[in-house]
Amino acid sequence: MQEATVSFKARAERALADPTLKLAIDRTTGTAERKRAVAMTQFPQFEAARERGKRIKDHVIANLDHYLLEFERNAIESGAKVHWASTAEEASQIVVSLCKQANAKRVTRVKSMLGEEIGLPHALDEAGIERVETDLAEHIVQLGGDRPSHIVWPSMHRTREQVSDMFKRAHRVPHQEETIEAMVASARRELRDKFLSADVSISGANFLIANTGATCTVTNEGNAELTTTPPRVHIVTAGIEKLVPSIEHAFLMLRLLVRSATGADVTQYTTFHCGPKQPGDRDGPEEFHIVLVDNGRTRMLRDAALKEMLRCIRCGACMNHCVVFRQLGGHVYGGTYPGPMGAVLTPVFDGLESSRDLPHACTMNGKCQEVCPVAIPLPTLLRGWRDRSWREGLEPTAARFGLSIHTFVASHPRLYRLGTAIAIKVMRLFSRGGLVRGMPGLGAWTKHRDFPAPARRSFMAMYKNSENKR
Ligand code: SF4
Repeated sequence: MQEATVSFKARAERALADPTLKLAIDRTTGTAERKRAVAMTQFPQFEAARERGKRIKDHVIANLDHYLLEFERNAIESGAKVHWASTAEEASQIVVSLCKQANAKRVTRVKSMLGEEIGLPHALDEAGIERVETDLAEHIVQLGGDRPSHIVWPSMHRTREQVSDMFKRAHRVPHQEETIEAMVASARRELRDKFLSADVSISGANFLIANTGATCTVTNEGNAELTTTPPRVHIVTAGIEKLVPSIEHAFLMLRLLVRSATGADVTQYTTFHCGPKQPGDRDGPEEFHIVLVDNGRTRMLRDAALKEMLRCIRCGACMNHCVVFRQLGGHVYGGTYPGPMGAVLTPVFDGLESSRDLPHACTMNGKCQEVCPVAIPLPTLLRGWRDRSWREGLEPTAARFGLSIHTFVASHPRLYRLGTAIAIKVMRLFSRGGLVRGMPGLGAWTKHRDFPAPARRSFMAMYKNSENKR
């Protein structure tokens, strides 16, 4: 069955039944959570920086037309060619036709979630252009023939044992020792000559600097530099919301991004690309293209609530701290972006009807908003989608019926108290050792976890009793 036709619930069932996946998720998100917590203790200015980062992004979003034109003007002045794409298809077509114009047989790619969003890997494969993913995690994703499951750690769904097997099968000179270092060396041997023989390089951008026309990319492996320097043509794809006014603003955003994403103070490599190779330069591309992608972003701009999502700097902290993501991993979400931010963005990109379940995959514990370095109110945005889904009649009839009964009962206090008292009695009949392990009507819950047995008396009954004793 095609993955896209499998429902969210079916994908979630499958993920919950996979203990290896759970192990892989725990290893990565647990480490990410711990490292971020340590980074925050060493960064007491986090709240102030977050407020400033939020203000910078809000200012740019409110003046997006101005900063886009400023960026375009300065990029052209530096020798870049700027292309505008209003949809994902248009963006991937522009990139593929630039590759064809360059007669590209092989392209190297630096990890970019926007590339996934516009379907670039598929478009390049369709065009018969060899695509080499140079980020180590993306290399693993490519060998596995699957999709990224996290925006910072795309191959987090693989354990190191699985990766070792994959490298042994696919690499020409695979590792002999079962160490991370030996596996990395194996990937390096495999990729090195491909870096040097590519015709075109394609990268994303973490930030676009309006007052210079430069693009900024951060990596920890140095693959961005090695990817974008040797080929004759370099293409950058970036969402229009990536703009910041100046390099000083980019540095402030980097402090927030890096700590939130990996818990480090700085990334190993921060690279600014500004136009093609100039006379006297020893290396660099002869052609430098920037593809600016809208794909629903101006639509978000018109929505007072969703506009806040344009602040997102793709750090991944919200998913590392999400109790749902940590049980299921990223593939379950179906779209390009997983976790809380994906549950907000996927309905924008793919439509609410096909992604109606995602805003419900949330316990509303608010942790995502708490850790977000640009203070995006993710639970509020998810509630907004739930509300819209209800108003547009997308919720299943059974849910609508159940909720209308609940609304009726909850608005009639006597009936509500009677219903609660009956429910307590019935549930206590099925409880053993303080837990309900199975009960008719609770099967969907008790299949995967026990239900705590209710107290003998309801809160209201106890409260009333204590009032009477006064
Ligand atoms: S929503 Fe916030 S926490 Fe989540 S990826 Fe975006 S910036 Fe990071």
